[in-house]
Amino acid sequence: MKVDYIVVGCGLAGLSFCEKLLENNKSFIVIDNNSQQSSVVAGGLYNPVTLKRFTPVWKSEEQLATALPIYKLLEQKLNSTLDYKIPVKRRFTSLEEQNNWFSASDKKGLKPFINTDLFVNNNPYIDANFKLGEVFQTGRLDTKKLIENYKKWLSDNNLLISETFNYDALILDESKVIYQHITAKHIVFAEGFGMKQNPYFKDLPLSGTKGQLLTIHAPELKLDYVLKSSVFVIPLGEDLYRVGSTYEQKDKTNTITEDAKEMLLNKLKTFVKCDFEIINQVAGIRPTVKDRKPLVGKHPTIPNMYLFNGLGSRGVMIAPYVADQLFNFIENNGSLDTEIDCSRFF
Ligand SMILES: Cc1cc2nc3c(=O)[nH]c(=O)nc-3n(C[C@H](O)[C@H](O)[C@H](O)COP(=O)(O)OP(=O)(O)OC[C@H]3O[C@@H](n4cnc5c(N)ncnc54)[C@H](O)[C@@H]3O)c2cc1C
Repeated sequence: MKVDYIVVGCGLAGLSFCEKLLENNKSFIVIDNNSQQSSVVAGGLYNPVTLKRFTPVWKSEEQLATALPIYKLLEQKLNSTLDYKIPVKRRFTSLEEQNNWFSASDKKGLKPFINTDLFVNNNPYIDANFKLGEVFQTGRLDTKKLIENYKKWLSDNNLLISETFNYDALILDESKVIYQHITAKHIVFAEGFGMKQNPYFKDLPLSGTKGQLLTIHAPELKLDYVLKSSVFVIPLGEDLYRVGSTYEQKDKTNTITEDAKEMLLNKLKTFVKCDFEIINQVAGIRPTVKDRKPLVGKHPTIPNMYLFNGLGSRGVMIAPYVADQLFNFIENNGSLDTEIDCSRFF
């Protein structure tokens, strides 16, 4: 089999790159083994403001402008609703936080995204005495449905091999790569935290941050926006809410833990005052990098070998933007933003 690209990994990174390849009539095959869960378990939020310090997300306008049309096209292609436009509201815990919100609204890069009309909370089951601040241009992508349906689409079109990529079986050449029966012009690795097993890129500083989320059933809560306090509460419909998430540095497994559940519940109960039932708990490893920027670009010595990783905790917004950059870099001699180019670590 001859293709233009082998893509290893079908999370948000891999599938965004595949969409770029399809748009440009490039042939490809994807290899994925379901070993990483980050894209599947993600809360799926896109939000251009960091809600801890009220600072702008890097290149947020460009990221949103690239990502949202792609998700719209994917909704049509996969015949599923994926992108739910929903406001995100930050719960303030003091007058000082309110003031910081107003100051932030004057900062470059934040003006289009911050609503300076604060909301008075009138939900009896939410404790929010210092009002709520709304972020504009936010939403939730159903990443689980996206990944499942995308893999099915790939499989139906004979574009997916469901197995673990065997790095030892890769044969490298000046002008091509050969993997089992496949000869390709290029190979792109998009394995998320699985990159730690990749002999070609494993020394790059991908630290990985475990995250766990709960799903709860809370019939009285009736929230029609995403509430951000010490944890996010994300409405999913039918009185279900996702609550999360944790940021854990030591444990690099996808196993759910009682400690994380307790921590999430303790935080939730400080501001949600109704009864609820826990429906499930999930865990995954975010592919985080020390400097909080993606790891993208070419291998320092091997031709035709590329990396698409390091999407951290914001894969939904940033993946299509990075896919654009990487594709233009490979095919059109375009340049990568220096902040994301993995050569910064070589
Ligand atoms: C709890 C949690 C909540 C999150 N919430 C949000 C959020 O609300 N908004 C947001 O934008 N982001 C969120 N994120 C982050 C987001 O999920 C990541 O940025 C994104 O999923 C990373 O995508 P990826 O494709 O790089 O990696 P992954 O999703 O990890 O995908 C990598 C793929 O490669 C495959 N793979 C790996 N190694 C191999 C191999 N050797 N052979 C074959 N296949 C292989 C894996 O099976 C996997 O399918 C969250 C993450 C977590 C864990």
